[in-house]
Amino acid sequence: MRGCFPAPAVISGAGSSTMTQIVLGGRRKKDPFELPVCSSTSTCFALLIHKEHNQQSQIQRQRQRRRECVWLSERRKWKGGRSVGVALQVQQQQCTYESREDKEWVVVNFYHFVFIKDAEAEVAKHLSFLEGRDIRGRIYVNQQGINAQYSGPLRDALAYVEWLRGDERFSDILVQISAALNGHAFPKLKLRYKPSLVQLEGGISHLPLLDPSMRATPLTPSEWRKRLEAVNTTTEASNKDLKTNQILLDVRNGYEWDIGHFNGARRPDVDCFRSTSFGLFQPEVIAADPLENVDKEKTDILMYCTGGIRCDVYSTILRQQGFQNLYTLKGGVSHYLENEGPVQWVGNLFVFDSRLSLPPPAYKPEAITKPNRHEVSKNNTFAQCYICSLQVCELRHRNCANLDCNLLYLCCMNCVKDLRGCCCLECTGAPRLRPVLPGFQRYKKWHTYRDTISQSKLTT
Ligand SMILES: [Zn+2]
Ligand SMILES: [Zn+2]
Repeated sequence: MRGCFPAPAVISGAGSSTMTQIVLGGRRKKDPFELPVCSSTSTCFALLIHKEHNQQSQIQRQRQRRRECVWLSERRKWKGGRSVGVALQVQQQQCTYESREDKEWVVVNFYHFVFIKDAEAEVAKHLSFLEGRDIRGRIYVNQQGINAQYSGPLRDALAYVEWLRGDERFSDILVQISAALNGHAFPKLKLRYKPSLVQLEGGISHLPLLDPSMRATPLTPSEWRKRLEAVNTTTEASNKDLKTNQILLDVRNGYEWDIGHFNGARRPDVDCFRSTSFGLFQPEVIAADPLENVDKEKTDILMYCTGGIRCDVYSTILRQQGFQNLYTLKGGVSHYLENEGPVQWVGNLFVFDSRLSLPPPAYKPEAITKPNRHEVSKNNTFAQCYICSLQVCELRHRNCANLDCNLLYLCCMNCVKDLRGCCCLECTGAPRLRPVLPGFQRYKKWHTYRDTISQSKLTT
């Protein structure tokens, strides 16, 4: 699959039995280590902390305490800012704390541009921290910074964030968290040095990413919302100037735009924002670009992508081309949906992990308590079948059944049936054909189909 940047934010509530309370933050009245004691199971997290507490030296204990408090307050924040003061209640008789931390699976995304002198050594440090922790995903590091998307049990996923934030170079990273379906959203962990933090034709190492003045001005979700509302909801006459002086640009791939985007966002007819080549270098691409013939000094260019990194990269390219007024949506669409909800947004958000498509409410912290938190949006009137152009009933892509094509496309159920899960007639005759996926799951590795397919060929 092309590209590699997913998205953000939900965590379920903590347990709510009436036993021991841990009081957090500045208002802490008692040492948390005196309280969360559980005798029901040897694997109880609270008990583990307690045991460790007794074994560790004073300095280690302070460090541990600080980490736990940050971890818990962070968790509370992600739960939607509820329960200020009293944060967690731990059940004594039947401790579910440990099991909950292991059952809640999340997908975490963040990136940060910062000079890393010895990137290989940095990678080694991260690998060593993650040893024994259940983290899978893509984490890339180089001299320009870090780009990470991974899944894991809540505890391991957050431990990595906190560890990283302990380093002042990464202390202010903006992290997006969303619920995983059930288990990992990535097949394995790829943590390594990579020359380009995002895919772009020609690489990005030559771009001045570390210089904030060369990047666009980040707008907060609420500032972004106001800008969009001003253009999209005022009357024709009064917003004429706004409309001509502002371009809303979707800096993502065509297949991402197809299942959801901001009202009024533009993207070229051709896929010039493909993750492999969204630069505007080829003449034929420039011809179809919405930035062609715009006044570089007077026009405000508002850009957005899933998590923000592609906009930051793209804005340095535009800056070098002389565009003066560049703005990006801070934290991307995921951060926006988490804070503002789906205002001015239509459809779902494409994500680059096994979930593929998430409805806007998946980013609201309270959404996790609903049983169908991953139900796809019903507002799909704009989305068309790639084959017959009729409206699709699910805002979720499927891959072409022909392994050697593997095109990601939206398809109605009739066409799925007619073309046996393929994107075109030609693909239905391809040698490496996989079975039609019944739902909207992802295909597994080829060998899982190869053996059964050759078996059935032998028996027929
Ligand atoms: Zn169709
Ligand atoms: Zn195909």
